[in-house]
Amino acid sequence: MGRYTGPSCRICRREGDKLFLKGDRCFTEKCAMDRRGYPPGDHGQSRRRKQSEYGLQLREKQKTRRIYGVMEGQFHGYYQKATRQKGVTGELLLQMLERRLDNVIFRMGLASSRTEARQMVRHGHFLVNGRKTDIPSYEVREGDVIELKQASRQNPRFQEMAELAETRTIVEWLSMDWETFRGTVQRLPAREDIDIPVKEHLIVEMYSR
Ligand code: SF4
Repeated sequence: MGRYTGPSCRICRREGDKLFLKGDRCFTEKCAMDRRGYPPGDHGQSRRRKQSEYGLQLREKQKTRRIYGVMEGQFHGYYQKATRQKGVTGELLLQMLERRLDNVIFRMGLASSRTEARQMVRHGHFLVNGRKTDIPSYEVREGDVIELKQASRQNPRFQEMAELAETRTIVEWLSMDWETFRGTVQRLPAREDIDIPVKEHLIVEMYSR
């Protein structure tokens, strides 16, 4: 199945949580979850079915997948990779998702959403350690330097993001220098650095059935 291209707000309403998929709009009164926080569809307001254990696990997986904009097969691949590593599988899974280059661009404040970041990466605006990298799923490592290409620095969108930077705080595991449009992965993210509303143990339970 291909990537979901329908309305992003519908996903939030389906999952019953603000997933912050639309950038700045999510912080305004236009947010659909704030205005109509019930599931979409004709019976959205009346539907109150109790979910099975599997249903809860499935919803948690779908929610996580949608936050990071990852397709099913790739998501399962992340899970399998996490099971082969030492540590808590759910946390390793989230760490891998956080380390995706499109997420890092979003976290550094160069894009207002992960969707926008993914598009920017695909358009080849960034260098990683001095080399052009246009693969959104590229997994950053500690010490990686991510930089906006010289030719893209006057792009109005990046100028706008630079102006907004003062109003935003950046996650602790990354640093960003807006003078040079260059960010560094200071360390890999720990679970407490990842502020997404998911219970990753439910995803692990679902896949281990
Ligand atoms: Fe979700 Fe609200 Fe953002 Fe729409 S505006 S994507 S409902 S958080």
